[in-house]
Amino acid sequence: MTFDLILRNVRPFSGIEALDIGIRNGRIADLGSLAGQGEDFGGRIAVPGLVESHIHLDKAGLICRCGQGAGSLAEAVAAVSRLKRDFSEADVHARGARVVEAAIRQGTMHMRAHVEVDPRVGLRSFAAMKRLRDDYAFACDITLCPFPQEGLTNDPGAEALLRQALAEGADLIGGCPYTDTDPQEQIRRVFAMAVEHDVDIDFHLDFDLDPGWTHMDAICEATARAGWHGRVTIGHATKLAAMGEGAFARYADLLLWAGVGVTALPSTDLYLNGRSEGFRAVRGVAPVHLLAARGGNASVATNNVMNPFTPYGDASLLRMANLYANVMQLGSEAFPLCMALVTEGAARLMRLEGYGLAVGDRADIVVLDATDPVEAFGSIAQPIAGFKRGRPSFVRPPARILLP
Ligand SMILES: [Zn+2]
Repeated sequence: MTFDLILRNVRPFSGIEALDIGIRNGRIADLGSLAGQGEDFGGRIAVPGLVESHIHLDKAGLICRCGQGAGSLAEAVAAVSRLKRDFSEADVHARGARVVEAAIRQGTMHMRAHVEVDPRVGLRSFAAMKRLRDDYAFACDITLCPFPQEGLTNDPGAEALLRQALAEGADLIGGCPYTDTDPQEQIRRVFAMAVEHDVDIDFHLDFDLDPGWTHMDAICEATARAGWHGRVTIGHATKLAAMGEGAFARYADLLLWAGVGVTALPSTDLYLNGRSEGFRAVRGVAPVHLLAARGGNASVATNNVMNPFTPYGDASLLRMANLYANVMQLGSEAFPLCMALVTEGAARLMRLEGYGLAVGDRADIVVLDATDPVEAFGSIAQPIAGFKRGRPSFVRPPARILLP
């Protein structure tokens, strides 16, 4: 068998031994000890391209423009609301491109980008995102999820703009019921638009630590009614971190029954939650690995990069999964489960076909600068090379000490 490219001597993250990966026509054609020329990676770890299941490119990189980070979720929404009236398409494109390029260097090859669509910013951010989707298709598949950050029923004009975005190339639709004066009606309308356009849904949901009420019941019921099993995701769901074990188990069962996935966004959730509780505050990151362990759809993602919601970020999903494991106090036996939250698990949540490192899968492959899986995850090993559909898409040579 002949190949377009052979990656020699790489060890799959979930494998025991190093092997060669033969690539043909953008797919993995064979695995094992293969004949032919190819770069030798010295037994380093290979993972399928990392999957960013929730990120905001349109409001990334604003922190230098509006000063320090906000103290609360409401302040962060208000700060961006003021700024976005002046967003131009070129501005959004430039800030987004910086994050996409950073993410590519960190091994990300699939991305679900939420984008705010409302009367303040119109479709300018959405237009910039469409250009980014085209510009970087060679290295990263970006899907676009327009959503009404400041409410739908209380924000006249928002629904018409969302419908226009769906007609003009949106890949799915988002919602944000907690900023709406009528959350149930927003949920109903978002489902109606999704069914009309046959697209998946990703809600921002339950972003506080009050276990006394939740929109999860309404989402799960609507999902079942629409027949959208496996096509709905909720992001944040930080209430899952604040309820008792019994209530958590009931909601885990409900989410699994409805086929609703959950994405934890550790950096934002840690930064914004529990502030009013002072010393010994609850941290507020949904324990999504427990949902994954039960067979549910679950992922960990970046959410924000350098803005009032999260004044941190380098777009590294490996760092985010490592942060998640650290916060959840998980030992190395749980590293494979946590790695899956930014690889296979996130890919399943986003319904990506042909994802993985098996023969026939698409050749989206990242090589990490470590030879042991525990070391790769625990040390946040640097990605040193990436291959998108079998074509080299980035290199990142390891840092070297220069001896005197
Ligand atoms: Zn978000």
